[in-house]
Amino acid sequence: MERGTRIISIFKQLLSKISYIFSEIFFPSRCESCDIFLSDSNKNSTLCLSCTQSFYSAYTPMFTCSLCGRRIPELHCSAHPSAIPLFSLFQYSSNTPKDLIFAFKYRFFEDALSPFFPLIKTALFEYPELNIYDVLVPIPLHASRFRERGFNQAELIARIFSESSTPPLPIVHTLKRVKKTLHQAEIHDDEKRKENIAGAFKALPHIPPQTSIILVDDVFTTGATTLEAIRTLRALHPKNILIFTLFRAQ
Ligand SMILES: [Zn+2]
Ligand SMILES: [Zn+2]
Repeated sequence: MERGTRIISIFKQLLSKISYIFSEIFFPSRCESCDIFLSDSNKNSTLCLSCTQSFYSAYTPMFTCSLCGRRIPELHCSAHPSAIPLFSLFQYSSNTPKDLIFAFKYRFFEDALSPFFPLIKTALFEYPELNIYDVLVPIPLHASRFRERGFNQAELIARIFSESSTPPLPIVHTLKRVKKTLHQAEIHDDEKRKENIAGAFKALPHIPPQTSIILVDDVFTTGATTLEAIRTLRALHPKNILIFTLFRAQ
């Protein structure tokens, strides 16, 4: 190696060491949930060991009725025969997973989604019912909200789902957000939430009739947004629809 090249290479190594030490001092890795500093052996993780444990114990995958919230292992609610089933991984009240989704949505920390990855994979393995669908449809954001945030959380979750399924399930943008709505979380009246979201979506003919759809979002609380999306999707005459979210209300 030529002397000049060697000096540049040593200089580069030195620089990368300095920047590593600098980031360790000023930006040490912390647990996304409890904020403690992560130990050296764990510093590439998002969670500390104790929060990783609570994350896994909060994992309670189940099918529930999208109208009454009742558990429906057979995907059919006797009180609401036409209701669309919801499959979700966590209760919204579970602290550690909720901390992660907050870090992801409001601090734009994409790595906060990584702990969900193996659980989606596990769920696909444990629940063969999830493997009969043709496409994933993420709930879209309005273009202006997308610009503001820089990503659509539902789409990123759909991508994890797709990468976890064999063969990878295609993601189809067959729903378009045509109305800019207020944040649903800021509206506390159920009727007003429904009004806010009414007419928010348009169905685009990107799938043939009789397609089986998994509609993807991060959270299912009152369901106003998801149910409006389903109402819109029906114009495309799907064979069946399942809602998939990380979180459910109860
Ligand atoms: Zn922790
Ligand atoms: Zn029901």
